[in-house]
Amino acid sequence: MDDLILPFQIEATALRGRLVRFNTAVDKIITQHGYPDAVASLLCEAVTLASLLAGALKYEGVFTLQTKGEGAVKLIVADVTSAGAVRGYAQYDADALAAAGTDGPPVPRLLGNGYLAFTVDQGENTDRYQGIVALDGGTLAECAAHYFAQSEQIATGLKLAVKRGEPDADGKPGPWRAGGLMIQRLPAEGGEAGNPTPHAHEGDDEGWNRALSYLGSCTSAELTDPALPAEDLLYRLFHEDGVRAWPAHRLQALCRCSRERISRVLRSLPREEMTGLEVDGKVTVDCEFCSTQYQFTPAQIEALFDKV
Ligand SMILES: [Zn+2]
Repeated sequence: MDDLILPFQIEATALRGRLVRFNTAVDKIITQHGYPDAVASLLCEAVTLASLLAGALKYEGVFTLQTKGEGAVKLIVADVTSAGAVRGYAQYDADALAAAGTDGPPVPRLLGNGYLAFTVDQGENTDRYQGIVALDGGTLAECAAHYFAQSEQIATGLKLAVKRGEPDADGKPGPWRAGGLMIQRLPAEGGEAGNPTPHAHEGDDEGWNRALSYLGSCTSAELTDPALPAEDLLYRLFHEDGVRAWPAHRLQALCRCSRERISRVLRSLPREEMTGLEVDGKVTVDCEFCSTQYQFTPAQIEALFDKV
């Protein structure tokens, strides 16, 4: 599997974690948009972070991560379905991006003041779970770790890495790759419902600190190395305390847009606005997530509204 999430448990301490690997999916997402490198890198991180966080939840539906800031990159959206479909997009100001330079941590430099929010949408008539935290870290991983420490009282170790593959012989840049690793220490009374594994050792500071230092020793090169299997990386990092991986789940870059969905959106707008949207005798709607274009002729627009 090129793109996967691998849940694991450190045997000596019963600490749980997840490893995410993207060898093809983030590249597909970036290629759909053609973003500049700084934006591409942040979006790859956001998609990886969303996949790690979604993997920690039991849900059926869509997990969405969103950043909103006053900086050059105004908006990042990444979402993951419980079936493992990932997608994402970003909105940025090209002039502000050029002015932001390349020195210093990306969050203050590119996103600026703002927030990071998580939403779980499990369909109609269900509660939407939402978490939100200020963008007060140097990286998205730091912001997310702050969120867990502040709002959920869950100590979290988190590492994200993004790397672009080496250019080929013709100088064409290599594919975008990304990886992420997360371990969490649930509060003492925690543990997942129905899980018979005792969490007696999770109160053990020594074990937690050891796990954090193993995680800290993981390099960006290891997280994004397509030649290093995910299980081998886990073994390399955590073998002193024993590590057990559960079956991996496949992730894939897949948008959920369709002509039917876009039609529904158009139908929800006032009919008189349709003429304002027409260019060259057609209404064209681009999917923000995958850049697919949907075109509607005046006759097709007419038919949409007649259906109601
Ligand atoms: Zn789409």
